[in-house]
Amino acid sequence: MSRDNYEVIIGLEVHAELSTKTKIFCSCPTEFGAAPNTHVCPICMAMPGTLPVLNEKVVEYAVKAGLATNCEISRDSKNDRKNYFYPDLPKAYQISQFDKPLCEHGYVEIDTDEGKKKIRLTRIHIEEDAGKLNHDDFGGGSLVDLNRAGVPLIEIVSEPDIRSSEEAEKYLRKLKSILEYIEVSDCKMQEGSLRADVNVSVRKKGDTKLGTRTEMKNMNSFKSITRAIEYEVDRQIDVLEDGGIIEQETLRWDDVSGKTFPMRDKEDAQDYRYFPDPDLVAIKLSEEYIENIKKSLPELPESRKQRYLEEYKLSEKDANIITSSKYLSDLFEGAIKICNNPKAVNNWIISDISRILNETEMEPIEIPFDSKQLAKLVMLIDKGTISSSIAKKVLVEMFEHPRDPEDIIDEKGWVQISDEGAIKDVVLKVLEANPQSVADYKGGKDKALGYLVGQAMKETRGKANPQMLNKMFLEELKK
Ligand code: ADP
Ligand code: ZN
Ligand code: MG
Repeated sequence: MSRDNYEVIIGLEVHAELSTKTKIFCSCPTEFGAAPNTHVCPICMAMPGTLPVLNEKVVEYAVKAGLATNCEISRDSKNDRKNYFYPDLPKAYQISQFDKPLCEHGYVEIDTDEGKKKIRLTRIHIEEDAGKLNHDDFGGGSLVDLNRAGVPLIEIVSEPDIRSSEEAEKYLRKLKSILEYIEVSDCKMQEGSLRADVNVSVRKKGDTKLGTRTEMKNMNSFKSITRAIEYEVDRQIDVLEDGGIIEQETLRWDDVSGKTFPMRDKEDAQDYRYFPDPDLVAIKLSEEYIENIKKSLPELPESRKQRYLEEYKLSEKDANIITSSKYLSDLFEGAIKICNNPKAVNNWIISDISRILNETEMEPIEIPFDSKQLAKLVMLIDKGTISSSIAKKVLVEMFEHPRDPEDIIDEKGWVQISDEGAIKDVVLKVLEANPQSVADYKGGKDKALGYLVGQAMKETRGKANPQMLNKMFLEELKK
């Protein structure tokens, strides 16, 4: 039997670190990248006798995320202890939410070949992150860094509605863009601000019961999520086709070998002995509180997209790419406010900028220049200071050694030659060196003109003004 006889079922549990200034139950900073154990206090180090106090911003951000993903917001919610021992979890329990999460029953819409599809969200709850173990290559031991302990997280749990690795990627990208737009998380996947546990099962087409799933934890790149799902689906089908059964287990994806490996048997909720945290009060939200957050929600990607289609006449495809990321979308809007050339800014983002991001595996948030600098680049072309081929080189420089496009052009001596005398010199030189092309052109081969212009460009290392070159060649050839 082939893979076509099976249906793939995927559900994601996505963890997003909230971008609050301080941790969830103490006032330590959440900032990433500090020296180990410098952002800690007795509360997040779990000293006996300390008391957690819930950071109100965490509730606000989680409610924001819930509203932006069409969830119902619980008026009455609470924190629970999830008990397990792990060396980077000094309390030996994690404060999370069990039976009364803040948000429930939402959905996120993705575009598929068959049209729009809703991926339902089971819940969004708040919890604290654990610390981090650094495995010491020299001493041979493991060192614990508690800076991350107590950084606030939301966990967004989807229903098993996802049917392929492409849908999983689309869902995750959509979720990421929503969280970026509402500014509750920076979603930097390389820093682990956004990571997903990927649950995968397969079943024979037509079956109504779900198959046994395996779970791959803490995945933080789109590429490895796609590869891991593809691998795991094939593996499970092979096992079933050989008459075996799938064990419910937690797997580790290894990017180098491109395989999954068993990590541990799957725990059940009962293994965690959840109970309400006695140190924290219930979370009661008023209608007014929720209403105010609703009013504070910014424009979401879908609505920006509609606006781009109408106001700037972007194509559906381009509008999708730009609004898929808040950073690209802000770059776009910021730049056109300054240079007033939506078409050119759109082209830069869709073609050259997207290509460089792809090639360098950079996320839009890492773009090292701002909308003002992009606008300047566009204006330099509009004014004829540089040609568009030079502008492409300037853009590469802006990525590699970020500075103002004007400075780059000055330093490199890339200003376009628009001086009539200088252009004429080049044209005459090229005409003299290429008598055959001149004869071809005069004999009716229009293409020869393009060749001559190309030669003149080569001669000036791309700096000659192309319109002036064209005009001047035509004048000379008519003589
Ligand atoms: P936990 O993993 O914490 O025990 P759940 O039982 O709530 O939590 O399920 C977690 C995730 O697994 C959810 O996103 C859900 O959609 C997904 N899931 C559940 N059953 C399956 C299945 N048979 N195949 C694929 N995904 C599943
Ligand atoms: Zn602390
Ligand atoms: Mg899970």
